Amino acid sequence: MSEVEVRDVFAVLEKGIPPLVGDASRFVTAPAMVERLSKDFYWYSPVLRPQLREKRGDAVALPVSLDEIRAILKFCYAEDIPVTARGAGTGNYGQAIPLEGGLVLDLSKMEAIEEITAEGVAICEPGVKLGVLETEARRQGWELRCYPSTIAKASLGGFLGGGSGGIGSVSHGGLRDFETVRALEVVTMEAEPRVILHEGLAVHDILHAWGTNGIITKIWLALTPAVEWSQIVTAFDTYAEAFDFAEKIAAEDTWTKRLVTVFESPIASYFTPIAKYVEGSRHTVFFLIAQSQQSALEVAAKAAGASVPYAGAYSGLRTVPLLSDYTWNHTTLWAMKQDEAFTYLQCGFDPDRVREQMRLLKKKFGEEMLLHMEFMKNGTGRVIPGAIPLVRFTTEERLREMIDFCRANGIFVANPHVNNVEDGGRFREDHVQLVAKRRYDPKGLLNPGKMLSFAPQKETAQA
Ligand code: FAD
Repeated sequence: MSEVEVRDVFAVLEKGIPPLVGDASRFVTAPAMVERLSKDFYWYSPVLRPQLREKRGDAVALPVSLDEIRAILKFCYAEDIPVTARGAGTGNYGQAIPLEGGLVLDLSKMEAIEEITAEGVAICEPGVKLGVLETEARRQGWELRCYPSTIAKASLGGFLGGGSGGIGSVSHGGLRDFETVRALEVVTMEAEPRVILHEGLAVHDILHAWGTNGIITKIWLALTPAVEWSQIVTAFDTYAEAFDFAEKIAAEDTWTKRLVTVFESPIASYFTPIAKYVEGSRHTVFFLIAQSQQSALEVAAKAAGASVPYAGAYSGLRTVPLLSDYTWNHTTLWAMKQDEAFTYLQCGFDPDRVREQMRLLKKKFGEEMLLHMEFMKNGTGRVIPGAIPLVRFTTEERLREMIDFCRANGIFVANPHVNNVEDGGRFREDHVQLVAKRRYDPKGLLNPGKMLSFAPQKETAQA
């Protein structure tokens, strides 16, 4: 879109969108605020940083109801204005950054937890913070099956739109596994926006589509019975010992766990706020384990040659130290605070070849790549080692070489240095997200530029 067209979009938006006219708190055009609400954690990637720095929307709308969303989408469809959904803006790949200006649709005011059913299904609006949902679920005897390390800020709608898994995934798989997302309600981007319920397998039409094929307005999310947890830090002399022990605990069904994270030395030394709870120079494993198994795990760790610098009860998200704040993609954040040259990759290993694959990586890249492993149950129930390795960035070519090397050696890579759904590694091979985009967003106005395989259609959408 040319600059002239972008200015025209602003001129249309400046007059206000019908349901929000005159409400400055819910229709924002102040440049600094629009800039802030147009950005996410894209700067994690040294490749995306220069590409996305100048991108922003023209205005931000903060709807409070389904009817308002429909009215906004109807207006934007008629005026050909792009609309980019936003939860809390903690995504890593510029998922929520508008590439072609237009309207940022901020869902943060739609944050109701309507109900947690007797069967443990939370029925929520998309803007609910995951931390709020976890706290309320635990109050009622349930907890989230999996959540990102950004739980305090991230929204449920944003997790469905752009996330994949996290703490809890070692036992419950990712967000897309085991029918965790039971159903979701979506509003389409058409002349008369429709409200469509996706249930069962049809949720995959919308999950991880970056808001390109519908606005999620209600979610039915399966929970799991709450467990009393303990947090444990173990430290080993060698990486092999740390990995072997972590893998054993992750894979054995007898252990009730929510988190098993391995940090190659010296990654744990980057966790400065919890320095007194870790032995930074050693190879470290963090666990969230059932309180009833805390002592047994300490005994097993010591028998495997570890020291246990910290073990204690977990009492919710305000627990100090909160070990999950240093795991999953938070590990990268702490490393970047130490040295801004650090960036990361997202890898999945072959469980039968993982030791050989890790050895190959270390032999080829040495200190240029530090192993940070997370475990995740896959759809068949097997626990798979994944990694969010830290990488010392030099050039884009070198990063590409690392990705190619991983793939050539059977290591799956979801590339976090691209800004489109297809190349990010979670695009469905059966193309259901693309098919849904054709049906629900024929003009291609939802988060345009992010689903590369889509070409706008001239004909009107059909159900
Ligand atoms: P946003 O960033 O606002 O949006 C994400 C995407 O969803 C965007 O494309 C947006 O357009 C779309 N979207 C938002 N709301 C809707 C809606 N209602 N309808 C349709 N589309 C919508 N992710 C993980 O999966 N696991 C992790 O452990 C993890 N750790 C992280 C750690 C750090 C330090 C950071 C910076 C990021 C991490 N992430 C992780 C990524 C991110 O935090 C999560 O995916 C989070 O769930 C995104 O939620 P959000 O509300 O911030 O979404």
